[in-house]
Amino acid sequence: MTTAYIALGSNLENPGLQLQRAVDDIDSLPEVEVSGCSKLYISDPVGPKGQPDYCNAAVRIETRLAPLALLDIMQAIENDHGRVRTVRWGPRTLDLDIILYGDNIIESERLTVPHYQMHVRNFVLCPILDIDPELTLPDGRKAATLLAEVGTDGIEVMATHYPWF
Ligand code: ATP
Ligand code: CA
Ligand code: CA
Repeated sequence: MTTAYIALGSNLENPGLQLQRAVDDIDSLPEVEVSGCSKLYISDPVGPKGQPDYCNAAVRIETRLAPLALLDIMQAIENDHGRVRTVRWGPRTLDLDIILYGDNIIESERLTVPHYQMHVRNFVLCPILDIDPELTLPDGRKAATLLAEVGTDGIEVMATHYPWF
């Protein structure tokens, strides 16, 4: 079994409920067990201006799925939530990013792990730190140190304990 972290984001069609449903969807996969869930956050959008605020969260999972098989399943769940790919970083009903996959470093055409922006995104660092305050990256950096560098501007807690609604 490998422990992995998935970051969830949504800013369309009732984002908070989209994320709650997505956690349920992930937990109901036969190959995946959710072993931890963050608070629910609201955050300012990155990318194109004028889009709605985001809801963000993260889950820790235990899985035997290989990384690309896990990506396939996360993308299938995004599609089930009606995700339409338009402009880069544009509004979306659901985004599921693989943030960490054990201590593996993966650089393939479809998958970069650790996620290439995790160290500068407080809407990823805050949720994973809810689950594991002592979390370290494969290169030994502590997630808490990275968050202290980035700060918590533009992000607020919406709900603490899952289920959030
Ligand atoms: P960002 O990657 O900056 O968060 P995004 O999430 O909006 O932007 P997407 O359009 O969701 O980007 O994904 C584009 C591609 O990124 C996916 O098709 C996937 O192959 C690739 N990708 C690379 N690394 C990862 C990862 N760690 N998790 C999810 N997708 C990844
Ligand atoms: Ca993303
Ligand atoms: Ca993505």
